[in-house]
Amino acid sequence: MAKRDYYEILGVGKTASKEELKKAYRKLAQQYHPDKNPDDKVSEEKFKELSEAYEILSDAERRAQYDRFGHSAANMGSGQNPFEGAGGFGDIFGDVFSEFFGGSGGRRGGQGSRGERGSDLSYNMELTFEQAAFGYSTELVIPRLEECGQCGGTGARSSKDIDLCSVCGGSGTQRIQQGFFSVATTCSNCRGTGKVIKNPCTSCHGRGRVNARKKLKVSIPAGVDTGARVKLTGEGEAGVGGGSRGDLYLVIRVLEHAIFERDNYDIYCRIPISITQAALGSEIEVPTLAGRARVTIAPGTQNDQTFRLRGKGIQKLQRPDFGDLYVKIMVEVPTNLNKEQKKILEQFAAISNEDSTPIKKGFMEKLKSFLS
Ligand SMILES: [Zn+2]
Ligand SMILES: [Zn+2]
Repeated sequence: MAKRDYYEILGVGKTASKEELKKAYRKLAQQYHPDKNPDDKVSEEKFKELSEAYEILSDAERRAQYDRFGHSAANMGSGQNPFEGAGGFGDIFGDVFSEFFGGSGGRRGGQGSRGERGSDLSYNMELTFEQAAFGYSTELVIPRLEECGQCGGTGARSSKDIDLCSVCGGSGTQRIQQGFFSVATTCSNCRGTGKVIKNPCTSCHGRGRVNARKKLKVSIPAGVDTGARVKLTGEGEAGVGGGSRGDLYLVIRVLEHAIFERDNYDIYCRIPISITQAALGSEIEVPTLAGRARVTIAPGTQNDQTFRLRGKGIQKLQRPDFGDLYVKIMVEVPTNLNKEQKKILEQFAAISNEDSTPIKKGFMEKLKSFLS
């Protein structure tokens, strides 16, 4: 299930202060408190969601982690859902995208400051299961707009080709009379730059920026999961007219693994064993991210029984500790029996009281009381 944005849950902006968060939380918590809404599942869920959002955002460190990496960073070990993790990834991914493009990114006009800030860029990065688990350093080639080297970003052939705008006199703003008031607006002649170019630069044709491909060394921390955004400050597009650079966001998608499934920092794998291993007990070899490990299977181990290998999961983002590995047993019933195998199993059945095995017996008793 996709998680909702914490800011959205509390109904506050991304820049909300501690006080604003507290106020929003108090108001909503009163509304959805279980005492006020007895036996109301929806309110109960909302209340839980609210508490979680407030818990994370009210902690400056966890809030910063959430802003940078999304839910995966801020929620350590919540929402455990063994063997069902993979289904939700698409939704989480979708969330991040709408948040990214609808929200904080994009252009911020030169309010007061000179020039226009460069656009933020987003780069979809696919990582293997292991790269995400152990961290990954690589070089990316990012196509982006860079300041034009020939004109230094001015857009003019030479400094003599730049004139002050005659309409606004170089201020970049025009005053327009509206009734009794005069309103300042961006100058329409120079679009707020205060300058006009007589002869544009031949390389960038007056734009001040050129298309380039920038090689970047990036380091993805161990523990990232699908939906995480890694922010590289100032690695977006170059600004215009002295404006600051945008930022680059690496949007992470972790590929599926042949053996392991992941839920947050825990990983899950299924190991098939034979009916004799299950019945008699055995020592089996299980794969872990760090290599092989041995697990002792007790006599009478049932299908779906799960073993936990503590600390054999994935390292938590910017923390020293690890999640766990869960090994789920899959008892394989033999097929295509030969004559001899068949005979032995028939003998086994004959000397066993197969209607009074514990699981079967318990089930029959329930069945009896249900049908009576
Ligand atoms: Zn140029
Ligand atoms: Zn002007």
